[in-house]
Amino acid sequence: MTPNIAAAKAALAHLDIEEKETNIRASSRDFFWYSPVLKARLDHVVADFVVRPRTEAEVIEVLKACYAHNVPVTTRGAGTGNYAQAMPLEGGCVMHLRHMTAVKEIHPGRVIVEPGCLLKDLDAATKEHSNQELRMVSSTWSTATIGGFIAGGSGGVGSCTWGTLRDLGNIIRLRVVTMEEEPRILEFHGKDLERVSHAYGTNGIITEIEMPLAPAYDWVELFVTTDDFMDAARFADQLANEDGILIKLVSVFEAPIAHDYFQRVKPHVEPGSNVIALMVAPHSMDGFLTFLDQHPGAALIYRSDDHNWDRTPGAIFEYGWNHTTLRALKVDPSITYLQVRYAYPDHLDLIEKMQKQFSPELLQHLEVLREEGKVMFAGLTLVKFTSEERLEEIMKLHEDAGAMIFNPHRYTLEEGGRQIVDDRQLKFKQEADPKGLLNPGKMLSWDTPDFDFKSIYSHPRIQAAE
Ligand SMILES: Cc1cc2nc3c(=O)[nH]c(=O)nc-3n(C[C@H](O)[C@H](O)[C@H](O)COP(=O)(O)OP(=O)(O)OC[C@H]3O[C@@H](n4cnc5c(N)ncnc54)[C@H](O)[C@@H]3O)c2cc1C
Repeated sequence: MTPNIAAAKAALAHLDIEEKETNIRASSRDFFWYSPVLKARLDHVVADFVVRPRTEAEVIEVLKACYAHNVPVTTRGAGTGNYAQAMPLEGGCVMHLRHMTAVKEIHPGRVIVEPGCLLKDLDAATKEHSNQELRMVSSTWSTATIGGFIAGGSGGVGSCTWGTLRDLGNIIRLRVVTMEEEPRILEFHGKDLERVSHAYGTNGIITEIEMPLAPAYDWVELFVTTDDFMDAARFADQLANEDGILIKLVSVFEAPIAHDYFQRVKPHVEPGSNVIALMVAPHSMDGFLTFLDQHPGAALIYRSDDHNWDRTPGAIFEYGWNHTTLRALKVDPSITYLQVRYAYPDHLDLIEKMQKQFSPELLQHLEVLREEGKVMFAGLTLVKFTSEERLEEIMKLHEDAGAMIFNPHRYTLEEGGRQIVDDRQLKFKQEADPKGLLNPGKMLSWDTPDFDFKSIYSHPRIQAAE
């Protein structure tokens, strides 16, 4: 199949097409460079053209024209994803959904929205309408789209209470356009959502989203310190298990992360301070302060509604999730990260073991989340990068110890995920994208059906890309 770029472009010339090379290059990149492994291999990746449809009808036009001329299509929300999710590995068309931002309907407990709407704009609309907000958002709330969050994200601020996007009920409905000669529009609910959510846009384009909402609050943002790292981890775990205290964020940073990488926090902590960042509902503050009293090793150093800091730290969630890595990278470009799942019930033991084994080469950054009702942790561990071999050895040692790794140094869905082939996503791709033109290269089971996940490090494609 040879793509005919010129013919596809000519067929779409009446749409909003980007011609400037620098803009095409910028729209071909995401935050892949967090990974030194991906940075070394994917820096050259660039689309042939960028098109910005305004409506679902225009999305269909783009897909139809690209199908007819064998042109790959990689969809872009805001390009804040890691893992090179939004990068057009085989060139072709980047379809940027920045114009599709309408908030269509708001009801008690749910909202219907177009995919290009920024998370912050969606929250602003639902808050203004009826004091509601999304249950969970990426920490890139101010820049990322709701479509990109569903197709590429996993959870984030709010996951300590609501779980992650893959939990039943956290997405209500997706409307999806297929990549066929005559694109079809399909609606997914319930269990079927797994076929298209978190699929990096490899098997359909999401054009409408229905999401559940929660009551909005003016969350109180707090920093707490402890001298001992495991005290901080246990504090976070116990707080998240207090059923009556409503929280939206619990992040734990091993010393000296806060001192070395959080510039506005630095004047208020020691190098040895372990820090916990929190968002607590205002009406839960009495409960929280009582909880704090029961933990004499923990000190409250900041609360957003009552403080004497000269410079406020800004939005506290922009210290957590993958913003921690960003802050560290800005100070020390040799930092990269791991994504680790510390599952209930062994999460605290495992964290302690990894912290003892690897600190300070690795510094623990933990995010509390709930899985099947149980409190556990995601680790977005900071790594002082030395070599790819050492990075792989570190991941292997985590796996050997029983901690699952979501490899952020790979660009395929399977390697960045649970290292299993998702048959439902693959089957839907066979049906919805028969030519394999949607975000090519990202679904391992499509390109290499017999790939065996004995090891997460060995996929020939990434090795061959050197
Ligand atoms: C500093 C930082 C912090 C982050 N924190 C978090 C976090 O807390 N939680 C989290 O989950 N992620 C996090 N991320 C990753 C990312 O920001 C989020 O997942 C974000 O929601 C992605 O949205 P986006 O609009 O930028 O998507 P993009 O990067 O543009 O796209 C992501 C993926 O979705 C696909 N896609 C986009 N729109 C559609 C569509 N309409 N239909 C089909 N496919 C589509 C793209 O092709 C791509 O594969 C973070 C990243 C950074 C750099």
